[in-house]
Amino acid sequence: MFRLRRYFLIVGGGAFLCFTLLFTYASYLHDRNNLKHFGERENITLAGYLSTLLIDTLKTYTARNLPSERAQLLEQPEIKLIDRFLSDFSEKYPILKVKVFDLQGQTIYSTVKKEVGVQKGMNTGLKSAAIDSRPHSEMAFKDEITSLSGSLFKRAIVETYIPVLSEDNKVIAVFELYSDVTELVTKSNQALLIFLILQSVGYIILFILLYIVVKRADSMIKSQYYQLNESHALLKDAKVNLEKTVQERTNELSETVKRLESEIVERKNKEEKIHHLAHHDTLTGLFNRFSLEIKLEQAIAQNTRSNKQLAILFIDLDRFKIINDTLGHKAGDHLLVKVSEKLKALCQRQTDIVARIGGDEFVIVLSELTSPTFAALTGTALVQVLSLPVEYGKHELLTSPSIGIAIYPDDGESIDTLLKNADTAMYHVKESGRANFQFYTRSMNKLIEEKMLLEKELRTAIKENSFELYYQPQICTIEKRICGVEALIRWNHPTMGFISPERFISIAEESKLILDIGTWVIDQAFRQIISWNTQGYKDIRMAINVSAKQLESSSFVSNIEHKLKQYQVKPDLIELEVTESSAMVNPEEAISKLQEIRDLGIELAIDDFGTGHSSLSYIQKLPINNLKLDRSFVMDVEHNKNNASICLATISLAHSLGFKVVAEGVENKLQSQYLQDINCDILQGFYFSKPKPAQELEKLLNEDISNLLETDT
Ligand code: C2E
Ligand code: MG
Ligand code: MG
Repeated sequence: MFRLRRYFLIVGGGAFLCFTLLFTYASYLHDRNNLKHFGERENITLAGYLSTLLIDTLKTYTARNLPSERAQLLEQPEIKLIDRFLSDFSEKYPILKVKVFDLQGQTIYSTVKKEVGVQKGMNTGLKSAAIDSRPHSEMAFKDEITSLSGSLFKRAIVETYIPVLSEDNKVIAVFELYSDVTELVTKSNQALLIFLILQSVGYIILFILLYIVVKRADSMIKSQYYQLNESHALLKDAKVNLEKTVQERTNELSETVKRLESEIVERKNKEEKIHHLAHHDTLTGLFNRFSLEIKLEQAIAQNTRSNKQLAILFIDLDRFKIINDTLGHKAGDHLLVKVSEKLKALCQRQTDIVARIGGDEFVIVLSELTSPTFAALTGTALVQVLSLPVEYGKHELLTSPSIGIAIYPDDGESIDTLLKNADTAMYHVKESGRANFQFYTRSMNKLIEEKMLLEKELRTAIKENSFELYYQPQICTIEKRICGVEALIRWNHPTMGFISPERFISIAEESKLILDIGTWVIDQAFRQIISWNTQGYKDIRMAINVSAKQLESSSFVSNIEHKLKQYQVKPDLIELEVTESSAMVNPEEAISKLQEIRDLGIELAIDDFGTGHSSLSYIQKLPINNLKLDRSFVMDVEHNKNNASICLATISLAHSLGFKVVAEGVENKLQSQYLQDINCDILQGFYFSKPKPAQELEKLLNEDISNLLETDT
C-alpha cells in the first residue's frame, strides 16, 4: 500500500532506462547498417571502375597460376595504373585498401604489396562473392596503417567482397575493398549521443510528470486508504457497538418478554382467581349467590323451552350456630366443607347446581324434572346424609338439614320468588322440628306473615305489660300433695284473643324478645312466691321455664342472684326448667352456668326430656335435680307399650342417677296410676289441674287432692 511512488521509481525508472538503452541501441544498429550499406555501395561502385580497368589483366592473371608469372603481372602497367588510380582516388574517397583474390583465396593484388601472394583462405565474404557471385560487406574497426595514407589511426571501415564477372557472367576474381566510414560513424555517434541526451531529457521530464501524478495518486490512495481504514475502524467499532447494543436490546427484549410472559400468566391466574372468587364461595368452592342467580336464570330459560320442571332446594343447617359458637369457626368451616362435599357427591348430574349463599345456607337446583318426586327423593337423601356425624378431631359435629323446596313454574316464575318460597318452606321445616324437607305451599306464606305480625304484637305486649302468669300444680306422689307449681305465661291479645305460648315463645326467642319476657316472668314468679309465703303456703316450689337465649345471656346468673336478694326468696323454692337443647347449646358453658345456678341453691330440671338428642349419660353430667318426662311419652302411656317402657326405663335410670322424675301432661287416672306404679316422683297435668291464675290456684292449694292419686287396686 502507498508504495506506488516506490514501485513507480523502481519499475518506471528501470523501464525508462531500458527503453532509452534499447532505443539508442536500435538506432545505433540502424545507423551501422545504413553506414555498412552506404560503404558497400561506394565499394561496389569503386570495384566496378576497377574491374573495367583490370578485367583483361585479371583474365590473364587468373589464367596463370605460377607465382613467378603472377609476380610479373604485378609489374604490368595496368597494375601500376591501378595503383595510381587508387592513390588519386583515395584522396577524394576514403578508400583504405583494395585487394583482389583468385577463386582459391590467394591474394593476387593488394594495395599493401607484402600481402600479394598470401593465401587468405575461404571466409564468409569470399565464399559469398566467389561461389554465389554476391557481394558481402562487414563493418569493422581497425588500427591500421593504410597503404594509401600511411597514417595510424583507429578507423571504422566497411569491408566488402565483390565478385569480378567475365563477359559470360563468370566470377573470375574477388575484390576486397576497405572503405573508411570513420567520419560518418563519428557523426552518427554524435547524433546518437544527442538523440540519447534528448531522449533521456524527454523521458526524465515525462518521468517527473508521471512521478508527480503517481505521487498525487499515491497520496490520494494513501489518504483514502487511511480514510478507508478509519472508516473500517469506525465501522468495526460501530459493528461492535451495534452488536453490543443488539445483544443488550435482545437481552432486554427477552427479559421483557419473560417478564411479560410471567405477568401474563400471573394476570391470567389473577383473572381466573378473581373470576373464580366472583363466582364461587371461597370456603367450599361451590357457586356463590351471584353465580347461582346467573345459572338459575339460564336453567329457568332452558326448562321453559323444554317444558320441564325445576326444583330449588333451600338448605339450612340445624344447630350450625351452636357448633360455630361452641367449638369455634374452624369447626364450623370444617363442617361446611364436609357438607358441601356431601352435596356435590349427591348432585352429580350435569344440570345440577349447588351453591352456598350464606353462612349455613345452601341451595341446590335440580333441572329437567318431569315431576317433583325426584326433588323429594333428593330431599330424603340429603336429610339422611347430612344428619350423619362429621368427625372433627376428638369431636363429632352433629347437624341436620332443614330443606325447603320450591318448584318452577308452580311456586313462582322469577328467581326471587322461587328462592323466597323455598326459604319459607325451609323456615317451616325449622318450625316443625327440623331435620326434614318440605315442599312450599301457599299457606306457608300466611304463617310467615302471621309470625311477623305476632312479633310486632309481642313488642307492644311487652311495652303494655299485657302478659299474665298461670300456675299449674305439680303433685308429689309420695307426699300426695301439691308440692310445687309451674309458672306458664299467658297472653290474652285484645283483638286476637288468647295466644298460646307454643305460638309466640319461639318468635320471642328468635327476636330475642324472650329476654324481656323472661325477666318479667322471673319478677312475676318471685313476687308470687313471696305472696304465697306471706299467705302461709311456705313449701310451694315455683318451676320457671328458662329459654336457651336467656341461659346464653352472660348476665343471667347474676340477675337471678340479684332478684333472689331483691325479693328475699329462698332459693330452694325456685326450680328453673331448661330444655335439653338449651343445655346442649354449649355443653361446657351450660354445665358451668347451671352449676353456678345450683350454687345459688336453686334447683334445676330438664324440661321435655326425651325429645332432644341428649342421652342419659350426657344428662348425668349436668348439675340437675329433676327430669321432666315429655308429654308425648305420657300421653298414651296406658295403651302404648313402647311409651310405657320408655317411661319405666327413664324413671329407673333417673333414680339411679339421683334425679327425681316429673311426668308432664297427665290427663287421666290410668296414666296417673301407671306413673305411680313405676315410681314417678311428681305428676303434672290437666288430670290434676290446668294452669290457673294465682288466685284460682290458691283455692286448689287449700284442697285435698290425694283422692286424685288414688289407684284402683
Ligand atoms: P312446658 O314447659 O313443657 O309446659 C307444659 C305445657 O304443657 C304447658 O303448655 C301446659 O299447659 C301443657 N300441659 C300441662 N298439662 C297438660 C295436659 O295434661 N295435657 C296437655 N295437652 N297439655 C298440658 P303451655 O302453657 O301452652 O306452654 C307451652 C310451652 O311454652 C311450655 O312447655 C314452655 O316450654 C313454654 N312456656 C310457657 N310459659 C313459658 C315461660 O314463662 N317462659 C318460657 N321460656 N317458656 C314458657
Ligand atoms: Mg316447662
Ligand atoms: Mg314440658
